[in-house]
Parts: sequence; structure tokens; C-alpha cells
Amino acid sequence: MAADPRPSLSTLCVHGGEQLDAQGGIHTPLYNHSTFGFPSTAALLDVVEGRAEGNLYTRYGLNPTIKATERKLALLEGGEGALAFSSGMAAEAATFLAFCKTGDNIVCIGDVYGGTFELLGDNLPDVGITTTFLLGSEINRLAEVMTDRTRIVFFETPTNPQMEIINIAEAVQVAKAAGALVVVDNTFASPVNQSPLELGADLVIHSATKYLGGHSDLTGGVVIGRGELLTPIWTWRKNLGQMMAPEVAFLLARSLRTLAVRVRHQNATAMAVAKFLQAHPKVKRANYPGLPDFPGHNVAATQMSGFGGMISFVYDGDAAATAAAVDKLKYFTIAASLGGVESLVTQPITTTHHGVTPEERARRGIGDGLVRLSVGLEDAEDLIADLKQALD
Ligand code: PLP
Repeated sequence: MAADPRPSLSTLCVHGGEQLDAQGGIHTPLYNHSTFGFPSTAALLDVVEGRAEGNLYTRYGLNPTIKATERKLALLEGGEGALAFSSGMAAEAATFLAFCKTGDNIVCIGDVYGGTFELLGDNLPDVGITTTFLLGSEINRLAEVMTDRTRIVFFETPTNPQMEIINIAEAVQVAKAAGALVVVDNTFASPVNQSPLELGADLVIHSATKYLGGHSDLTGGVVIGRGELLTPIWTWRKNLGQMMAPEVAFLLARSLRTLAVRVRHQNATAMAVAKFLQAHPKVKRANYPGLPDFPGHNVAATQMSGFGGMISFVYDGDAAATAAAVDKLKYFTIAASLGGVESLVTQPITTTHHGVTPEERARRGIGDGLVRLSVGLEDAEDLIADLKQALD
């Protein structure tokens, strides 16, 4: 008999990974228990010693609500398994610590979220793990900067906040040849628009706080990939106590059921908003991978199936003038974070990249006029009218 065809993404969003119980509830219930009981010591030992699957203790992730959400996440990214975390930063930290020991090196390509930059640049050096930072335009130097101690090549694509596109297949080819793992932060694209594992990446990380959660009402993270790579990360998660709470896993599964619909709608609205911005006289440059003349467009068109809901643009004015324009917006709330149903706006120098030194910001072209938009689910015409009154 022919194997069942792989269900489409929307179907996996709704049905993937669910574990129904005998009460007839139509999706996975919330088991917010911290611990689970056994009929006998032998049955407990079977789970503790890995002979049987079972629920044991929530900090270990051995909780049915968490496991069901992890299965759904793994299916959406096309990975063997997934590990849920209390935040995106927790997922990153556990991954770096699982594969890098004192003396090891990470190569980070392109702009990354300010917190990631701080973790790699400030915290990990305290335990002897160094990071070599390449600009997005320097991917051709990857082979040259990698050493025999480089364990991980890490990047976001599109990057935060300039929307640079890193060629996943190219990074994979170079990193694999040198024996390093490729870890991609897929937060901006979401599994709806990009599948790094299919392009050869080893692990995918998300801040689930963003598109996966989608309603700005939960904080979480996830790492997805092959089982053998998840095992060491699992141990770090357990012993650092970075587990996602069952209540959050339940809320996240609720959100994932609408992920495809939300993100596809946001793709379309962001395209319309980006075209408006590109044509506006007060906008020096609009950064959106879907714009045909955006520098990363051609690579984005090969590795993304949609261009996402994130846009940044350079306003023709200094920090104060840019803030004045941002302050006039009505539908875009001034806030850090992204990926929710409501549109958000931020000047990266005031939030995500506030902690990055002025010199490093200048080197990366993150200037005072840079504005980042997270396009929500409002009507495109309303968002464009709002931007028009603020920029005009
Ligand atoms: N990765 C990206 C691209 C982000 O934008 C963020 C947060 O803004 C993170 C990771 C960290 O995620 P969290 O805030 O859930 O720890």
C-alpha cells in the first residue's frame, strides 16, 4: 500500500502531534501537573531508564501537553523532534552550551537579535567560548574564518533588523565541509515561509514568543532537528531548568493551529506596506525580501516560499525626527517583539539593539533613522493610511 502523502502545512498546524484523551476534548488537554504517578516501581524505572515512553516530571519535558506541542513543532519544521523552552534565548543558550566547550568557537553570520549578540559576545566568552562575527555580506569569508575549534555556524535569515538574506545552502556547504553544525534562527520567516532543515541545516531555533505564539501573550522557544542532536540539548535544558511551562505549551499549540493562516495573510499585507514605503519620499530605503530590487531578493526567492511580515526602513531624519514620526502612528504600537496579530513598530536603537555599542551599530549600518515594523492582521489599507499620515 502506498504511504500516506505528507499532509500540508495547514493540516499539520491543526492536527499535527495532538494527543486526545478519553474525555472527548477535541485537542490536547492541559496537563499542568508537575509530576506523574506510576502503578509500580518497576513501571517508574522503565521510564527513568529509558525502556518505556512515559510521563515523569514536567521540568524534564516528560509531560503530555508539552510533548504534544513539541511533536506539532517538529512536524511543522520537518524535523525528527523538538524541544520546547521557556524563551528563545533559553533555546539558544542550551544549544550553544550543548555543543561548545571551553576553547571552542562559533561563527555568527549577519545581524542577529541584540540579546543573541550579547550572549555570544559577552556571556559565552566568560566560559571560554568565543564567537567570530561576520557581516551578512561576508559569507564568502566563512571558510577562511572557521577553525578546527568551530563547532557551530549560526545565523538568522531574514536578519533582525535589516532583513538581510543569508544563503542557507551556501552556509551549509561550507560549514559541513569543515565539520561544524549549522543552526538557523528561523524566527522571522516562521516554518510557513522557510524550511532550513530541508536545505541542510542541522538545527532550527525559534523564539516562539513571535510568530509561533502569534498573539503577544506567551514567551517561549524551541529547537528542532535530529534526535541525536537534541539529546545533549535536552540534558542542558533539564539541568538549567529552562522548561516551557505546560500552560504555555497549551497556549502555544492553540496558536500553532492558526499559524499558516496568520503568516500567509501577514505576507500579503507586508508586501503591500513595503511597496508603499518604497515609494514614499521620506523613506530612504525599504528593506523587505519581497521587493524585487532588495539585495537579498533573488536568494530569498529560492529559499523562502513567502517573504514574511517583517519590514524595516530608513527614515530620512535623525533619531528625534524618526521618533516623532513613529510616535504619530496609531495602529502600530511602539513595542519590542514581533509576530503578533497587532502591528508593532520599533526603532532598533531604542530596543533590540540598544545594548549594542554605537561603533558596532555603525559598522552594521543600524542607524538612528532605522525603523522596524511587524505587520499584524489589520487591514493593509488601514496600515498604509496610518503610515502615510505619520510620514507625510
Ligand atoms: N531570535 C530572534 C530573531 C528574536 O527576535 C528574539 C527576540 O526578540 C530572540 C531570538 C529571543 O527570543 P525570546 O525573547 O523569546 O527569548
